[in-house]
Amino acid sequence: HSTARKTEELILLAMTMAGSFAVFPFAITRLMQGEWLLGALDLSLVVSLLLISSYVFRTHKTEFASIAVCALSVGAIVGTVYIKGVSQVFWTFPTVLIVFYLLTPTRALFACAVALTMLLPKLLTGNDTMTLMTTLSTIVLTIAFSYAFSKQTANQRDQLVRLATKDPLTGASNRRALSAKLDEIIAQHRREPVTASILMIDLDHFKRVNDKFGHAAGDQVLIGLVRVIKQRIRSTDSVFRIGGEEFAVLSQRLDEEAAEALGEDLRVLVEAARLAEDYPITISVGVAQLRNGETFDDWLRRGDNALYAAKDQGRNRVISVQVPMLSEIEVARMERDAAQKPAG
Ligand code: GH3
Ligand code: MG
Ligand code: MG
Repeated sequence: HSTARKTEELILLAMTMAGSFAVFPFAITRLMQGEWLLGALDLSLVVSLLLISSYVFRTHKTEFASIAVCALSVGAIVGTVYIKGVSQVFWTFPTVLIVFYLLTPTRALFACAVALTMLLPKLLTGNDTMTLMTTLSTIVLTIAFSYAFSKQTANQRDQLVRLATKDPLTGASNRRALSAKLDEIIAQHRREPVTASILMIDLDHFKRVNDKFGHAAGDQVLIGLVRVIKQRIRSTDSVFRIGGEEFAVLSQRLDEEAAEALGEDLRVLVEAARLAEDYPITISVGVAQLRNGETFDDWLRRGDNALYAAKDQGRNRVISVQVPMLSEIEVARMERDAAQKPAG
C-alpha cells in the first residue's frame, strides 16, 4: 500500500539525511588527522542517522525514530561539550527545540532533564560563576517556554480532533468519524478478512417525544441513550451519532449473530432505562456483518434495510436481514475482478 508520506515522516527523513551528510565530512577529516575517538563518534552518528532514515523510509513509522533522533542529539551535545569544552554549550538551544518538536511535551521535558543533568558536572567546573548562572538560566528558560508552547499546541490539536470527530450533544463520535473508521476496516478486510458488524439504531416515534415534552427534553433522551449504549459496549466497539436521532454501533469483534445479541441487550437496556420517566422510549435496531468484496455503502445499506424491516415489523425490535446468497453469476464476476486486481 503506497500511502502519501506524512509531514512527520518527511521532516524526520530530511533531518536524518541532512544530519548524516553534514557530519560525514567531519568524520573523514578527523580520521585523516588521527583524532580516532572523535572520528569514530562522528562516523557512528552518520551510520545511526542513515539507519533511522532507512527505517522511516521502509516502515512509515515515526515514533521510535523520533525518540532515536532525540537520544542521538542529546548524546551528541553532551559528548561534544565534554570533549571540546563548555563553549560548545550553545548547541543545547537548537537541541531543546528539536526535542520538543519531535517528542510529546512530557517525553521532551524528560529528555531535557537528562541532558541538563549530564551537562551539569562539566558546566560547574568549566565556568566562572556569572557564566554558569547565565548558561543555566537561559537553558532552563528555553526549556520552560518550549514546554509551555508544545503543551499548548498539543492541547489545541486534541481539541481540534474532538471538534472534528465528536458530536457535542451526546459525546458520541460523528458521521465523519464513522466514514473514516469504515474506510479503515474495509481496507484492512481486503488484506485479511476481519470480523466486523454494524448496528443501526433509531429511536422509535421520537417526534412524539419532542412534541410532548419539548426539544430540550428530547435532547436529554439522546444523551441518556448514548450513556446506556456506552455502558454496555466494550472498548473495541464504538458508538456514532449519524443523524438527529439515528446512531450506529460498530463492533470489530462480533459476527452477525453475536451483534444481534448485543442489539437485543441494548434494546432491553434502553427500554428499562426509562429515559423519559413514564413515557416509553424504545429503539429499533438493524444489524449487518461486513461481507467479502462489499463497499461501505453496501454494508451500511444492508444495516439500514434491516432497520427499516425492524420499524416495519412494529418497532422496539432487532433485525439482522439475512440477504440471500450471491448468485453464481455474481460470484464469477467477483472472482474475475479479484484475479484482475494487481497483488498488494
Ligand atoms: P420512527 O419510529 O419511524 O423512527 O419515528 P420518528 O418520529 O422517530 O422518526 P422521524 O425520522 O420521522 O423523526 C425523527 C425526529 O427526531 C424528528 C425530530 O423532531 C427529532 N430530532 C432529530 N434530531 C433531534 C435532536 O437533535 N434533538 C431532538 N430533541 N430531536 C431531534
Ligand atoms: Mg426515529
Ligand atoms: Mg430517524
